[in-house]
Amino acid sequence: MKIDDWLLEILACPACHAPLREDDAASELVCTNTECALAYPVRDDIPVLLVDEARRPGEPRAAAPGEPEGAGE
Ligand SMILES: [Zn+2]
Repeated sequence: MKIDDWLLEILACPACHAPLREDDAASELVCTNTECALAYPVRDDIPVLLVDEARRPGEPRAAAPGEPEGAGE
């Protein structure tokens, strides 16, 4: 994933408005506020800055709420 530096600078956590940092390994943008620390997914190089889509700290991605995976089948 590639997030431009200028873009990362203007992005902020929608939950607490703290700056975000890139987590390349997880393809996520992680809130730098340790009280919040939500991890936002990046899909097709586009950050999804929605609290509903964010992963809570310490929570495995598969168990994230709102993940529609396997819901229909
Ligand atoms: Zn935050």
